[in-house]
Amino acid sequence: MDQEKILGIVRKWKINPKPEYRGFRCAKCQRYMRKAWHVWLNKGGFKLEVHFCKKCFKEMNK
Ligand SMILES: [Zn+2]
Repeated sequence: MDQEKILGIVRKWKINPKPEYRGFRCAKCQRYMRKAWHVWLNKGGFKLEVHFCKKCFKEMNK
């Protein structure tokens, strides 16, 4: 998977300083999910877990 592509999505997020307790949401389309693809980014010395729905996961793998 193209980590730069995923990071591009992550950089668009508006970070909420307050912690949130919520279900999984797709990193790309923000759809709520009960199951998600868990993708780990490992960049700049820290790891970030990103969740994708089936549709977006497929798109990311094109
Ligand atoms: Zn999605």
